[in-house]
Amino acid sequence: MTYSRYDVIIIGGGAVGLGVALEITRRFPGKRLLLLEKEDRVARHQSGHNSGVIHSGVYYKPGSLKARLCVAGAAAMVEFCREHGIPHNVCGKVIVATQEEELPRLEELRIRGEANGLVGLRLIGPEELREIEPHATGLRALLVPSTGVTDYALVCEKYAELIAANGGVVRTNTPATGIRRIPNEIAVETSQGAFSASALINCAGLFSDRIARMAGDDPGVMIVPFRGEYYDLVPERASLVRALIYPVPDPRFPFLGVHFTRRITGKVDAGPNAILALAREGYRHRDINVRDLAGSLAFPGLWRMARQHWRNALGEWHRSLSKAAFVRALQRLLPEVCEKDFVRGGSGVRAQALKPDGALVDDFQFVPSGKVLHVLNVPSPAATASLMIGKAIVDMAATSLGLS
Ligand SMILES: Cc1cc2nc3c(=O)[nH]c(=O)nc-3n(C[C@H](O)[C@H](O)[C@H](O)COP(=O)(O)OP(=O)(O)OC[C@H]3O[C@@H](n4cnc5c(N)ncnc54)[C@H](O)[C@@H]3O)c2cc1C
Repeated sequence: MTYSRYDVIIIGGGAVGLGVALEITRRFPGKRLLLLEKEDRVARHQSGHNSGVIHSGVYYKPGSLKARLCVAGAAAMVEFCREHGIPHNVCGKVIVATQEEELPRLEELRIRGEANGLVGLRLIGPEELREIEPHATGLRALLVPSTGVTDYALVCEKYAELIAANGGVVRTNTPATGIRRIPNEIAVETSQGAFSASALINCAGLFSDRIARMAGDDPGVMIVPFRGEYYDLVPERASLVRALIYPVPDPRFPFLGVHFTRRITGKVDAGPNAILALAREGYRHRDINVRDLAGSLAFPGLWRMARQHWRNALGEWHRSLSKAAFVRALQRLLPEVCEKDFVRGGSGVRAQALKPDGALVDDFQFVPSGKVLHVLNVPSPAATASLMIGKAIVDMAATSLGLS
């Protein structure tokens, strides 16, 4: 077989793969880089199906990769959008406690946020909340001024354009179908021919565990697809939300709870919930993939997770199947809304790594294996942090991957 030869191949044209590729082309201009994306354009999956929020970093454990890369990544994302004329708005957000038992967790978030270096965080009472979000009610709220919104599909298109301008190659419609380690080289087979390089970076999102296995490595985790569904607030009622209104999240889960987001387009949506999808790219209830489902059901971690979280999972399914239940969850934040104010919106599927013991991997996870690096857990806020994830991966692995 003949191979087209590169110095580094990246699998996955989402925000993370593109962020890594951009950093490599900037830092090592002479290196020949190839990025493979199976879809007809970049950002077709998580990076183009998210809430578009530039997260501040308030939620994450101090010292974690998520905390460090999100706080620095948010500033870098705002600067990137400004420099390249991508619509964005640092509108701030409120995290609203609606029940007494949430008040200590709200205070804990403030402490976390300050430990992560956020400035301007402030606990506010119901009157000040109403000045900021006139239709929201709560006992107290945390004001987070550095949160913003943008459009990550546009961000990714710009990443791809800059990579190409720097001499990198972004090949769409090119799924990686096989990986072989040959002496001093990694060979990647695709539907469009075979390529080789001295280093490979796996940024395949919902398929990153499968790509790791394809490369002969045991990822040690399984990627579980969690669908997040949205409702849109009808345009006549969009004025009920000025910016971003979030509940206090349940610390046992990596998801933030259904919330209101005024997107950069001005459209206001509510969601996303978090239900187990029956296909890795299962955007609708009727999307079922037998291989994905059988793989999930055969993984012991799934059953252990189900045993721990079945009550919460039932609640999420109930809200998925019943609009009334979904809207009831939102009424805690915005009591004026009712069912007729919402129409079904889009959905996205999160790639969340699950351990065999049933624990959800909390932090970002980058796993080196010789000349291959697997990016195995980059859920939210990875779109926000994508530029910094690129830098962190290059800092960590430039030498082992033979880039420097
Ligand atoms: C509903 C939802 C809401 C979210 N909200 C936010 C938010 O507001 N802010 C935020 O910062 N983050 C948010 N996130 C998280 C964020 O979108 C993701 O963390 C981020 O997009 C992950 O990027 P990625 O490049 O790893 O994955 P992806 O964007 O999924 O990219 C992976 C790519 O790999 C490709 N691929 C897979 N297999 C192959 C193969 N064999 N060959 C070639 N290509 C392959 C796929 O086609 C895909 O394009 C949200 C996510 C979801 C789902």
